[in-house]
Amino acid sequence: MRLNWRRSSRVEDRLEKWIAQQHQEQVLAGKTAPVGPHPDEAFLRDIVRKSKQISLSDSRLDHVANCPICLPRFLAFRRENESRRRKLVLVTTAAACLVIIAAIVSLARYRASTQSPAASVALVSETVNLWDAGTLRGEQPGSLQSVFLPAALVRVKIILPRFSTPGKYAVAVTMDQGGNGVVAQSSVAATTNGQQETVSVDLDLRQAKAGAYFLSTTHEQDQASYYYPLQIR
Ligand SMILES: [Zn+2]
Repeated sequence: MRLNWRRSSRVEDRLEKWIAQQHQEQVLAGKTAPVGPHPDEAFLRDIVRKSKQISLSDSRLDHVANCPICLPRFLAFRRENESRRRKLVLVTTAAACLVIIAAIVSLARYRASTQSPAASVALVSETVNLWDAGTLRGEQPGSLQSVFLPAALVRVKIILPRFSTPGKYAVAVTMDQGGNGVVAQSSVAATTNGQQETVSVDLDLRQAKAGAYFLSTTHEQDQASYYYPLQIR
């Protein structure tokens, strides 16, 4: 049904077009007699641009349709309008493409700017040997060994004190030995090497000001934190 309707509508379209063409040829050949005076150019332009606003009963329309002078002018305006509209579509499409390209470029730049600094900052490797270190457990005083780290992105390999148990450790840099003012922290499983337990963590100390801090290690099951005086320089 739908196909038949479409086909018949196409046939009607062709027929209408043919009639219009026949009529146009008759007009252009001067075989028709237009009624009334020639309308002005503004009206011819209005038929092209504001066709919906013009009443079909307007006698000027009837004149244009039958006038060998007005009809070619109207057809010229219509062609002009169509090419302008086509150009506008082309310009709009090009502008939209440019906007999309600009968005992609700025997104790529934004990603590059957010990713490259982190990627380009080199990790500074440091080893902290606490094998023979005394610790501060909570507020308990003990024999202390100072640890030095640079204010950088540091990959710290910590050799844990003698008799440390295997497992996961939380490593932190804090302002005091109560665990307050955490500057950086990371959790990692210790690796066993003979009798030694070692943890390797990345600590971002780039924002830290030079001064005295504490390096703490906390076993995930023990939950008691051990604090070692730390100097950042
Ligand atoms: Zn005319």
